[in-house]
Amino acid sequence: MNDKSRKCSSNVSTVSIVKVAGTGKKQLKIGLEHFFEIHGGLRKIIPAHTNKILIKPNLMMGEPWTTGITVNPYMVEFLVTFLKKEGLEVIVGEGAGWGCKSADAFKKTGVADICDHLGIPLIDFKRGRGVHIPVPEGSLLKDVLVDEIVPECDFIFSLAKMKTHCETTVSLSMKNMKGLITEDRERLRFHLLDVNRCLIDLNRVFKPDFSIVEGIIALEGIGPLKPGKPKPLGIVAGGKDPVSVDAVCARIMGLNPADIRHLEYASLAGLGTIDKNEIEVTGESVEAVKPDRYECPPQKIEKLSPYENIKIINGNPCSNCVASLASYLHGYIDKKIIERATSNIEILIGGKARSSGTGREIAIGNCLKKYRGKLPFVSGCPPPSDAYLELIDRGLKGNFDIATVNSNCKVVFINKNNET
Ligand code: SF4
Repeated sequence: MNDKSRKCSSNVSTVSIVKVAGTGKKQLKIGLEHFFEIHGGLRKIIPAHTNKILIKPNLMMGEPWTTGITVNPYMVEFLVTFLKKEGLEVIVGEGAGWGCKSADAFKKTGVADICDHLGIPLIDFKRGRGVHIPVPEGSLLKDVLVDEIVPECDFIFSLAKMKTHCETTVSLSMKNMKGLITEDRERLRFHLLDVNRCLIDLNRVFKPDFSIVEGIIALEGIGPLKPGKPKPLGIVAGGKDPVSVDAVCARIMGLNPADIRHLEYASLAGLGTIDKNEIEVTGESVEAVKPDRYECPPQKIEKLSPYENIKIINGNPCSNCVASLASYLHGYIDKKIIERATSNIEILIGGKARSSGTGREIAIGNCLKKYRGKLPFVSGCPPPSDAYLELIDRGLKGNFDIATVNSNCKVVFINKNNET
Protein backbone atom coordinates (compact mmCIF):
# COMPACT_ATOMS: atom_id res chain seq x y z
CA MET A 1 0.00 0.00 0.00
CA ASN A 2 1.43 3.39 -1.02
CA ASP A 3 1.87 6.19 1.45
CA LYS A 4 -0.40 8.77 -0.13
CA SER A 5 -0.73 10.96 2.92
CA ARG A 6 2.29 13.16 2.19
CA LYS A 7 2.56 15.93 -0.33
CA CYS A 8 4.90 15.42 -3.30
CA SER A 9 7.23 18.16 -4.43
CA SER A 10 8.96 18.32 -7.78
CA ASN A 11 12.24 17.32 -6.09
CA VAL A 12 10.79 14.26 -4.47
CA SER A 13 13.09 11.45 -3.43
CA THR A 14 11.67 7.92 -3.67
CA VAL A 15 12.17 5.29 -1.01
CA SER A 16 10.60 1.86 -1.40
CA ILE A 17 9.70 -0.55 1.36
CA VAL A 18 8.86 -4.18 0.64
CA LYS A 19 7.84 -6.93 3.00
CA VAL A 20 9.76 -10.21 2.91
CA ALA A 21 7.52 -13.07 3.93
CA GLY A 22 10.03 -15.08 5.95
CA THR A 23 13.74 -15.55 6.56
CA GLY A 24 14.32 -18.12 3.80
CA LYS A 25 16.35 -17.61 0.64
CA LYS A 26 13.33 -18.06 -1.62
CA GLN A 27 11.25 -15.43 0.16
CA LEU A 28 14.18 -13.01 0.03
CA LYS A 29 14.53 -13.53 -3.73
CA ILE A 30 10.83 -12.79 -4.25
CA GLY A 31 11.08 -9.72 -2.01
CA LEU A 32 14.14 -8.33 -3.82
CA GLU A 33 12.64 -8.94 -7.25
CA HIS A 34 9.57 -7.03 -6.15
CA PHE A 35 11.78 -4.28 -4.74
CA PHE A 36 13.62 -3.80 -8.05
CA GLU A 37 10.36 -3.98 -10.02
CA ILE A 38 9.09 -1.00 -8.04
CA HIS A 39 12.23 0.88 -9.11
CA GLY A 40 11.68 -0.04 -12.76
CA GLY A 41 14.42 -2.66 -12.86
CA LEU A 42 18.16 -2.52 -12.30
CA ARG A 43 18.88 -0.93 -15.66
CA LYS A 44 16.87 2.08 -14.63
CA ILE A 45 18.87 2.36 -11.41
CA ILE A 46 22.32 2.02 -12.95
CA PRO A 47 23.45 4.59 -15.53
CA ALA A 48 24.38 3.22 -18.96
CA HIS A 49 28.04 4.32 -18.77
CA THR A 50 28.75 2.38 -15.54
CA ASN A 51 31.91 0.24 -15.71
CA LYS A 52 32.54 -1.20 -12.28
CA ILE A 53 30.11 -1.62 -9.39
CA LEU A 54 31.12 -1.93 -5.76
CA ILE A 55 28.72 -3.75 -3.45
CA LYS A 56 29.44 -2.70 0.12
CA PRO A 57 27.60 -5.01 2.55
CA ASN A 58 27.66 -4.51 6.30
CA LEU A 59 29.83 -7.43 7.45
CA MET A 60 31.36 -5.67 10.42
CA MET A 61 31.77 -8.74 12.62
CA GLY A 62 31.99 -12.51 12.34
CA GLU A 63 28.36 -12.85 13.37
CA PRO A 64 25.56 -14.50 11.41
CA TRP A 65 22.91 -12.20 9.94
CA THR A 66 20.23 -13.57 12.29
CA THR A 67 21.93 -11.81 15.22
CA GLY A 68 20.87 -8.50 13.64
CA ILE A 69 24.53 -7.45 13.43
CA THR A 70 25.40 -8.23 9.79
CA VAL A 71 23.50 -8.17 6.56
CA ASN A 72 21.75 -11.23 5.10
CA PRO A 73 24.43 -12.85 2.87
CA TYR A 74 21.85 -13.87 0.26
CA MET A 75 21.25 -10.17 -0.41
CA VAL A 76 24.82 -10.14 -1.72
CA GLU A 77 24.25 -13.31 -3.73
CA PHE A 78 21.06 -12.08 -5.38
CA LEU A 79 22.37 -8.63 -6.10
CA VAL A 80 25.56 -10.01 -7.68
CA THR A 81 23.48 -12.45 -9.75
CA PHE A 82 21.08 -9.73 -10.91
CA LEU A 83 23.97 -7.41 -11.85
CA LYS A 84 25.92 -10.14 -13.65
CA LYS A 85 22.81 -10.95 -15.68
CA GLU A 86 22.94 -7.35 -16.90
CA GLY A 87 26.55 -7.92 -17.96
CA LEU A 88 27.99 -5.56 -15.33
CA GLU A 89 31.39 -5.88 -13.62
CA VAL A 90 30.91 -6.31 -9.89
CA ILE A 91 33.17 -6.50 -6.86
CA VAL A 92 32.23 -6.92 -3.20
CA GLY A 93 34.28 -5.13 -0.54
CA GLU A 94 34.22 -4.46 3.20
CA GLY A 95 36.55 -3.73 6.07
CA ALA A 96 35.31 -5.35 9.28
CA GLY A 97 34.99 -3.47 12.55
CA TRP A 98 37.58 -2.82 15.22
CA GLY A 99 39.24 -5.98 16.51
CA CYS A 100 37.73 -8.23 13.83
CA LYS A 101 39.61 -9.61 10.85
CA SER A 102 37.57 -9.08 7.67
CA ALA A 103 38.43 -12.62 6.55
CA ASP A 104 36.79 -13.92 9.72
CA ALA A 105 33.66 -11.82 9.10
CA PHE A 106 33.51 -12.90 5.44
CA LYS A 107 33.75 -16.55 6.42
CA LYS A 108 31.34 -16.53 9.35
CA THR A 109 28.66 -14.55 7.53
CA GLY A 110 28.88 -16.92 4.55
CA VAL A 111 29.79 -14.17 2.06
CA ALA A 112 33.24 -15.66 1.36
CA ASP A 113 31.67 -18.88 0.07
CA ILE A 114 29.07 -16.98 -1.94
CA CYS A 115 31.66 -14.79 -3.72
CA ASP A 116 33.87 -17.80 -4.27
CA HIS A 117 31.00 -19.72 -5.81
CA LEU A 118 29.99 -16.78 -8.04
CA GLY A 119 33.60 -16.04 -9.04
CA ILE A 120 33.39 -12.47 -7.75
CA PRO A 121 36.34 -10.60 -6.14
CA LEU A 122 35.80 -10.11 -2.42
CA ILE A 123 38.09 -7.32 -1.23
CA ASP A 124 39.27 -6.88 2.34
CA PHE A 125 39.54 -3.12 2.70
CA LYS A 126 41.59 -3.46 5.87
CA ARG A 127 44.40 -5.19 4.01
CA GLY A 128 44.48 -3.30 0.73
CA ARG A 129 46.61 -0.31 -0.25
CA GLY A 130 45.05 2.90 0.97
CA VAL A 131 44.78 6.13 -1.02
CA HIS A 132 44.05 9.56 0.42
CA ILE A 133 41.07 11.10 -1.34
CA PRO A 134 40.56 14.85 -0.70
CA VAL A 135 37.29 15.99 0.84
CA PRO A 136 36.87 19.42 -0.83
CA GLU A 137 34.37 20.91 1.62
CA GLY A 138 35.11 18.70 4.60
CA SER A 139 34.00 20.14 7.92
CA LEU A 140 36.50 18.04 9.92
CA LEU A 141 38.39 15.88 7.42
CA LYS A 142 40.64 17.15 4.64
CA ASP A 143 40.83 13.68 3.14
CA VAL A 144 39.71 10.10 3.69
CA LEU A 145 41.90 7.01 3.44
CA VAL A 146 40.13 4.32 1.43
CA ASP A 147 41.17 1.18 -0.38
CA GLU A 148 42.63 2.07 -3.79
CA ILE A 149 39.94 0.07 -5.57
CA VAL A 150 37.10 2.23 -4.20
CA PRO A 151 37.74 5.28 -6.44
CA GLU A 152 38.01 2.93 -9.44
CA CYS A 153 34.35 1.99 -9.00
CA ASP A 154 31.84 4.29 -10.60
CA PHE A 155 28.78 3.00 -8.76
CA ILE A 156 28.44 2.07 -5.07
CA PHE A 157 25.64 -0.19 -3.93
CA SER A 158 25.26 -0.01 -0.16
CA LEU A 159 23.76 -3.06 1.54
CA ALA A 160 23.29 -1.88 5.10
CA LYS A 161 21.62 -3.47 8.09
CA MET A 162 18.87 -1.71 10.02
CA LYS A 163 20.58 -1.19 13.38
CA THR A 164 20.69 0.97 16.42
CA HIS A 165 24.07 2.43 17.34
CA CYS A 166 25.14 3.87 20.67
CA GLU A 167 27.21 6.68 19.11
CA THR A 168 25.27 7.56 15.97
CA THR A 169 21.80 6.42 17.15
CA VAL A 170 21.28 4.46 13.92
CA SER A 171 23.61 2.55 11.64
CA LEU A 172 22.13 2.55 8.14
CA SER A 173 23.33 3.49 4.62
CA MET A 174 25.52 6.49 5.44
CA LYS A 175 27.17 4.78 8.39
CA ASN A 176 27.79 1.70 6.23
CA MET A 177 30.29 3.72 4.17
CA LYS A 178 32.70 3.73 7.12
CA GLY A 179 33.78 0.22 6.11
CA LEU A 180 35.52 1.76 3.07
CA ILE A 181 38.22 3.19 5.37
CA THR A 182 41.33 1.05 5.26
CA GLU A 183 43.01 1.34 8.66
CA ASP A 184 41.72 0.92 12.19
CA ARG A 185 43.59 4.02 13.40
CA GLU A 186 42.04 6.06 10.61
CA ARG A 187 38.60 4.89 11.68
CA LEU A 188 39.47 5.70 15.27
CA ARG A 189 40.14 9.28 14.15
CA PHE A 190 36.44 9.53 13.24
CA HIS A 191 35.50 8.71 16.81
CA LEU A 192 38.05 11.00 18.38
CA LEU A 193 37.04 13.97 16.19
CA ASP A 194 33.25 13.50 15.98
CA VAL A 195 31.97 10.44 14.21
CA ASN A 196 28.71 12.10 13.18
CA ARG A 197 30.48 14.92 11.31
CA CYS A 198 33.21 12.66 9.89
CA LEU A 199 30.53 10.41 8.37
CA ILE A 200 29.21 13.41 6.47
CA ASP A 201 32.69 14.23 5.16
CA LEU A 202 33.13 10.62 4.04
CA ASN A 203 29.75 10.65 2.31
CA ARG A 204 30.63 13.92 0.56
CA VAL A 205 33.10 11.91 -1.54
CA PHE A 206 31.74 8.36 -1.29
CA LYS A 207 27.97 8.56 -1.09
CA PRO A 208 26.20 5.36 -2.14
CA ASP A 209 24.58 5.61 -5.57
CA PHE A 210 21.89 3.24 -4.42
CA SER A 211 21.15 2.05 -0.91
CA ILE A 212 19.29 -0.95 0.38
CA VAL A 213 18.71 -1.49 4.09
CA GLU A 214 17.96 -4.99 5.28
CA GLY A 215 15.49 -5.09 8.15
CA ILE A 216 14.37 -8.68 7.75
CA ILE A 217 16.03 -9.16 11.12
CA ALA A 218 17.03 -5.71 12.35
CA LEU A 219 18.90 -4.81 15.56
CA GLU A 220 17.43 -2.90 18.51
CA GLY A 221 18.71 -1.76 21.91
CA ILE A 222 22.35 -0.98 22.52
CA GLY A 223 23.87 -1.61 19.08
CA PRO A 224 25.80 -1.95 16.87
CA LEU A 225 26.88 -5.21 18.56
CA LYS A 226 25.59 -7.20 21.52
CA PRO A 227 23.89 -6.41 23.87
CA GLY A 228 21.82 -5.14 20.90
CA LYS A 229 19.07 -7.67 20.20
CA PRO A 230 17.67 -9.03 16.94
CA LYS A 231 14.36 -7.48 15.97
CA PRO A 232 12.53 -9.36 13.21
CA LEU A 233 10.70 -6.83 10.99
CA GLY A 234 10.58 -8.72 7.69
CA ILE A 235 11.32 -5.69 5.48
CA VAL A 236 13.79 -4.30 2.99
CA ALA A 237 13.90 -0.56 2.22
CA GLY A 238 15.94 1.44 -0.26
CA GLY A 239 16.35 4.11 -2.86
CA LYS A 240 18.81 6.42 -4.60
CA ASP A 241 19.12 9.04 -1.89
CA PRO A 242 20.81 7.42 1.14
CA VAL A 243 19.79 10.31 3.38
CA SER A 244 16.09 9.84 2.66
CA VAL A 245 16.46 6.04 2.84
CA ASP A 246 18.00 6.44 6.30
CA ALA A 247 15.34 8.98 7.30
CA VAL A 248 12.55 6.56 6.35
CA CYS A 249 14.29 3.71 8.21
CA ALA A 250 14.67 5.95 11.25
CA ARG A 251 10.93 6.61 11.19
CA ILE A 252 10.29 2.85 11.00
CA MET A 253 12.51 2.57 14.08
CA GLY A 254 10.30 5.12 15.84
CA LEU A 255 12.84 7.95 15.63
CA ASN A 256 12.61 11.47 14.28
CA PRO A 257 15.35 11.80 11.60
CA ALA A 258 15.90 15.44 12.60
CA ASP A 259 17.01 14.21 16.05
CA ILE A 260 19.75 12.02 14.56
CA ARG A 261 22.83 14.17 14.26
CA HIS A 262 24.47 12.73 11.18
CA LEU A 263 21.17 12.70 9.28
CA GLU A 264 20.51 16.30 10.18
CA TYR A 265 24.07 17.30 9.17
CA ALA A 266 23.69 15.36 5.91
CA SER A 267 20.55 17.25 4.98
CA LEU A 268 22.15 20.59 5.92
CA ALA A 269 25.17 19.68 3.78
CA GLY A 270 22.85 19.07 0.82
CA LEU A 271 23.61 15.36 0.59
CA GLY A 272 19.93 14.43 0.52
CA THR A 273 16.67 15.10 2.26
CA ILE A 274 15.14 14.03 5.55
CA ASP A 275 12.02 16.12 4.97
CA LYS A 276 8.92 13.93 4.92
CA ASN A 277 7.33 16.26 2.38
CA GLU A 278 10.17 15.65 -0.06
CA ILE A 279 10.17 11.86 0.24
CA GLU A 280 7.76 9.61 -1.60
CA VAL A 281 7.41 6.22 0.06
CA THR A 282 6.38 3.47 -2.35
CA GLY A 283 5.51 -0.17 -1.73
CA GLU A 284 4.55 -0.44 1.95
CA SER A 285 3.97 2.65 4.04
CA VAL A 286 6.07 3.43 7.11
CA GLU A 287 2.98 3.01 9.28
CA ALA A 288 2.28 -0.46 7.86
CA VAL A 289 5.70 -1.86 8.80
CA LYS A 290 6.56 0.15 11.92
CA PRO A 291 6.57 -2.06 15.00
CA ASP A 292 4.68 -1.03 18.14
CA ARG A 293 7.98 -0.72 19.94
CA TYR A 294 11.58 -0.42 18.79
CA GLU A 295 14.10 -0.17 21.59
CA CYS A 296 16.64 2.56 20.93
CA PRO A 297 20.00 3.15 22.61
CA PRO A 298 20.31 5.84 25.29
CA GLN A 299 20.83 9.25 23.63
CA LYS A 300 23.75 9.97 25.94
CA ILE A 301 26.67 7.74 26.97
CA GLU A 302 26.09 8.94 30.56
CA LYS A 303 22.74 7.12 30.49
CA LEU A 304 24.32 3.82 29.58
CA SER A 305 24.33 2.61 33.16
CA PRO A 306 21.00 1.25 34.36
CA TYR A 307 22.21 1.52 37.99
CA GLU A 308 22.11 4.60 40.18
CA ASN A 309 25.33 3.68 41.95
CA ILE A 310 27.33 3.34 38.71
CA LYS A 311 27.94 6.70 37.06
CA ILE A 312 29.53 7.05 33.63
CA ILE A 313 31.98 9.88 32.92
CA ASN A 314 31.85 10.45 29.17
CA GLY A 315 35.16 11.12 27.41
CA ASN A 316 33.89 10.50 23.85
CA PRO A 317 34.66 6.78 23.68
CA CYS A 318 34.30 4.94 20.39
CA SER A 319 31.49 2.44 20.01
CA ASN A 320 33.79 -0.50 20.79
CA CYS A 321 34.37 0.56 24.39
CA VAL A 322 30.72 1.53 24.74
CA ALA A 323 29.53 -1.84 23.42
CA SER A 324 31.95 -3.70 25.68
CA LEU A 325 30.94 -1.78 28.82
CA ALA A 326 27.26 -1.97 27.86
CA SER A 327 27.42 -5.73 27.43
CA TYR A 328 28.89 -6.00 30.91
CA LEU A 329 26.41 -3.65 32.58
CA HIS A 330 23.37 -4.99 30.76
CA GLY A 331 24.36 -8.61 30.42
CA TYR A 332 27.19 -10.13 32.42
CA ILE A 333 27.02 -8.15 35.65
CA ASP A 334 25.93 -10.13 38.69
CA LYS A 335 22.93 -8.17 40.05
CA LYS A 336 23.90 -9.27 43.58
CA ILE A 337 26.96 -7.02 43.53
CA ILE A 338 24.64 -4.08 42.87
CA GLU A 339 22.30 -5.08 45.70
CA ARG A 340 25.25 -5.47 48.12
CA ALA A 341 26.92 -2.19 47.08
CA THR A 342 28.16 0.10 49.85
CA SER A 343 29.70 2.71 47.57
CA ASN A 344 29.00 4.53 44.35
CA ILE A 345 31.52 4.29 41.54
CA GLU A 346 32.36 6.49 38.58
CA ILE A 347 33.55 4.90 35.37
CA LEU A 348 35.76 7.05 33.16
CA ILE A 349 35.45 6.00 29.52
CA GLY A 350 36.97 7.54 26.36
CA GLY A 351 40.19 9.51 25.87
CA LYS A 352 38.71 12.85 26.93
CA ALA A 353 37.42 11.68 30.31
CA ARG A 354 39.12 13.48 33.21
CA SER A 355 39.48 12.42 36.80
CA SER A 356 37.99 14.88 39.25
CA GLY A 357 39.62 13.18 42.19
CA THR A 358 36.51 11.85 43.91
CA GLY A 359 38.37 8.72 45.00
CA ARG A 360 35.60 6.54 43.58
CA GLU A 361 36.81 6.43 39.98
CA ILE A 362 37.71 3.54 37.70
CA ALA A 363 39.27 4.23 34.27
CA ILE A 364 38.66 1.85 31.39
CA GLY A 365 40.29 1.41 27.99
CA ASN A 366 43.78 2.11 26.69
CA CYS A 367 42.76 5.65 25.75
CA LEU A 368 42.99 6.34 29.49
CA LYS A 369 46.25 4.52 30.20
CA LYS A 370 47.62 7.74 31.68
CA TYR A 371 45.59 6.74 34.73
CA ARG A 372 47.36 3.40 35.07
CA GLY A 373 48.98 3.51 38.52
CA LYS A 374 46.79 6.45 39.56
CA LEU A 375 43.30 4.92 39.46
CA PRO A 376 41.93 1.40 39.28
CA PHE A 377 42.37 0.80 35.54
CA VAL A 378 41.03 -1.81 33.10
CA SER A 379 43.33 -2.12 30.06
CA GLY A 380 42.30 -3.18 26.56
CA CYS A 381 41.13 -1.54 23.39
CA PRO A 382 38.38 -2.23 24.07
CA PRO A 383 38.64 -4.21 27.31
CA PRO A 384 36.77 -7.53 27.06
CA SER A 385 33.39 -7.42 28.82
CA ASP A 386 34.48 -9.86 31.53
CA ALA A 387 37.51 -7.71 32.46
CA TYR A 388 35.39 -5.24 34.42
CA LEU A 389 34.07 -7.63 37.02
CA GLU A 390 36.74 -7.52 39.69
CA LEU A 391 37.41 -3.77 39.80
CA ILE A 392 33.72 -2.86 39.63
CA ASP A 393 32.93 -5.41 42.33
CA ARG A 394 35.70 -4.02 44.55
CA GLY A 395 34.63 -0.43 43.85
CA LEU A 396 31.02 -1.11 44.77
CA LYS A 397 32.37 -2.43 48.11
CA GLY A 398 34.31 0.81 48.60
CA ASN A 399 37.71 -0.59 47.69
CA PHE A 400 39.54 1.61 45.18
CA ASP A 401 43.09 0.26 45.65
CA ILE A 402 45.25 1.05 42.64
CA ALA A 403 45.15 -1.99 40.41
CA THR A 404 45.13 -2.83 36.73
CA VAL A 405 43.26 -5.55 34.94
CA ASN A 406 45.56 -6.89 32.22
CA SER A 407 44.68 -8.50 28.91
CA ASN A 408 44.20 -11.91 30.59
CA CYS A 409 41.57 -10.35 32.87
CA LYS A 410 43.95 -10.77 35.83
CA VAL A 411 44.11 -8.07 38.49
CA VAL A 412 47.60 -6.69 39.09
CA PHE A 413 48.23 -4.37 42.03
CA ILE A 414 50.48 -1.38 41.46
CA ASN A 415 52.49 0.72 43.87
CA LYS A 416 53.08 4.47 43.76
CA ASN A 417 56.06 3.99 41.44
CA ASN A 418 53.77 2.30 38.92
CA GLU A 419 55.41 -1.08 39.66
CA THR A 420 53.49 -4.32 39.94
S1 SF4 B 1 40.27 2.32 24.48
FE1 SF4 B 1 38.11 2.21 24.03
S2 SF4 B 1 37.51 4.27 23.43
FE2 SF4 B 1 39.73 4.12 23.28
S3 SF4 B 1 40.10 3.54 21.17
FE3 SF4 B 1 40.09 1.66 22.36
S4 SF4 B 1 38.01 0.93 22.20
FE4 SF4 B 1 37.94 3.07 21.57
